[in-house]
Amino acid sequence: MAALAVFCLPAGAELLAGAAARKITPKLDRPVYLAGFGNNRAATGVHDDLWARCLALRTGSEPVVICAVDLIGLFHDDVQMVRAAVPGARVIVAATHVHQGPDTMGQWGPKQTVSGLDETYNAFVVAETAAAAREAIARLTPVRMFPAAVTPPDVAAYYDDTRPPVVHDPEILSLVFRDRRGRAVATLVNWNNHPEALGSRNTLITSDYVHYTRQMLEDAGFGTAVFVNGALGGMQSPLGAKIIDPGTGQPAPKDSFRFAEIVGRYAARHVIESQKKAKSAAVDTLEYRETQARFPVANQGFLMAAKLGLFGGRKAFSDGATAAPVGYLRIAHGGTPVVEAALVPGELYPELSVGGAVCDPNADYPDALVEKPLKKMLSAPFRMLFGLANDEIGYILPKCQWDEQPPFTFGAAKRWYGEVNSTGPEAAPVLAAAFEQLVRR
Ligand SMILES: [Zn+2]
Repeated sequence: MAALAVFCLPAGAELLAGAAARKITPKLDRPVYLAGFGNNRAATGVHDDLWARCLALRTGSEPVVICAVDLIGLFHDDVQMVRAAVPGARVIVAATHVHQGPDTMGQWGPKQTVSGLDETYNAFVVAETAAAAREAIARLTPVRMFPAAVTPPDVAAYYDDTRPPVVHDPEILSLVFRDRRGRAVATLVNWNNHPEALGSRNTLITSDYVHYTRQMLEDAGFGTAVFVNGALGGMQSPLGAKIIDPGTGQPAPKDSFRFAEIVGRYAARHVIESQKKAKSAAVDTLEYRETQARFPVANQGFLMAAKLGLFGGRKAFSDGATAAPVGYLRIAHGGTPVVEAALVPGELYPELSVGGAVCDPNADYPDALVEKPLKKMLSAPFRMLFGLANDEIGYILPKCQWDEQPPFTFGAAKRWYGEVNSTGPEAAPVLAAAFEQLVRR
């Protein structure tokens, strides 16, 4: 058996990692429309910098680079430009989904019919993200990987799930990469929560709770911190959550930087604690697969926005559908996956990550087949999900929970929030089928 195992190993495969971070804070010498809530929220200052942060990994010849950008989302058109500027690597660009950064998608301009996009800024984001990816590759150095995962018992307190069923994918996952001297080169953090702790009235640019998560980790010697958000749809948000301030024992003040700090440091603390018990995992192969899936667009609002040119020519629609990438990342040893990640081009309902969909008879398609949850298609001991990865097509919810027509599900008097920001009821079945094929390939 040992001989067979050696035979399967690619000769000399060792894991290398490198990281880099570049600021993508916009200049305020022109109007900067903040994305994520209503229209016409112009930035008045900067609280903390926005970042493009990249982690490069390599076992064979071609590195895989995982970049996270502090933005509401980035369409695939922009991601392709980043990729073109980083030849010889597989580049992943996931948005952290901060609601306190510039409108890079065009939906949050001065009014509903006017784009909030600033092409100069998007071009700057593309250039800086590509530069961070190239720097991360240039810094590749032999490392050992330390994976950890934890589901804190009180994690539900950090979400206000405004739509039944109450389901979370609450695991806080981390990968720490340490060089030969034991020094942390980088830490990848994967958690799912909307970075909107500052609320809809804030006008200072900030990466919200993500800033505090990364800052605490970097201060604790965890190298360059790269935060990737997870299945944060329907609705995984700290906005309405009643969170106790550990400093005062009182509820944390809403819509404040203190509130964001408590959420951010909570995630960092659990990374630090769970890493204390982490064991290094051998790695000899790294693989990234991606496919373009076609998502039917039933959402008239999206079609109208495209027609008005809000997206600046991005996100082409043809034959009633738009293409978006679905990805699968696999870090393995001896043919067995150690870490796997599902890469989703939008905001996934956690039911589609970990299961728990409830098909209420009042839904529009109550008999629709329940999609197989993405993490249940994986077998690695550490299973990640990167949301808003390489594209942003909005909410992706289980088809059997789709509900635009009365009577409404769960006895609601009015329509639930979600469908209005989704391409349509077919998004989930298309995604699940595309991902299953990728994993099996
Ligand atoms: Zn969102």
